[in-house]
Amino acid sequence: MSAKRPLPKRAARAQVGIADLARFFPGLEGVLGHLNEVQDRFAFREVEVTSPLGVWVREEGRSYLYAELFAEKLKDKPRSLGVDFLGCITNWWMRDDKSVNIYGWWSGDRSVPILLLSTAGLPLPAEGPVAEGALANLVVAGLAAQMLGYESSAGVLHETGPRECPFFYNPERAIESIGGRLRFDARCKKRLVGALGRATVRAFDGLLAAYDIRKVVGGKPLRVSVASGRRSRP
Ligand SMILES: [Zn+2]
Repeated sequence: MSAKRPLPKRAARAQVGIADLARFFPGLEGVLGHLNEVQDRFAFREVEVTSPLGVWVREEGRSYLYAELFAEKLKDKPRSLGVDFLGCITNWWMRDDKSVNIYGWWSGDRSVPILLLSTAGLPLPAEGPVAEGALANLVVAGLAAQMLGYESSAGVLHETGPRECPFFYNPERAIESIGGRLRFDARCKKRLVGALGRATVRAFDGLLAAYDIRKVVGGKPLRVSVASGRRSRP
């Protein structure tokens, strides 16, 4: 008699909705489709979100989207959209309780599964390989930081150390640390594996590598790199 052993159930993909509020990235849908192909832990899709009112503050002549206010107002949106994480892309300058001119934000709080990316002042094209690579990098940085925040209250970003790590703080907004080929350094990777497990970290690695080599028409692979050494200060 052969006992039928059920196959180990594959973990369901975490659902990630991405809303491009200002429609900055015309190729977003294609990017998310590609990101779904290179790993099996996250399912990305484009969603529609309207920016809530009362989430701006004015400081030194500049209007800022206030990240905590924005996330608090949208905290029930992921559930109504049927996603585990909601990433919103804005073209407003952004600040949070601690810092101004930030371009990435996450709550680190399970009850507020909101990630934010501000493209304001980023030396980032809206289309092409650098834009696509940057989207993959920023999605990984946001998700990884958010998920680590569920496990520990210790900070995740480092102001020194490898600049090609998605957790490098990057106050100078160097494009290499945004649109370049990023990899978690050994220290950050160890922490991620300990908190989230190898399979999830493998998925992050797959996402970071998603635009290493792009197939172009004619089937000739094209090596993509960020050649520019431009920097932009906030
Ligand atoms: Zn690191």
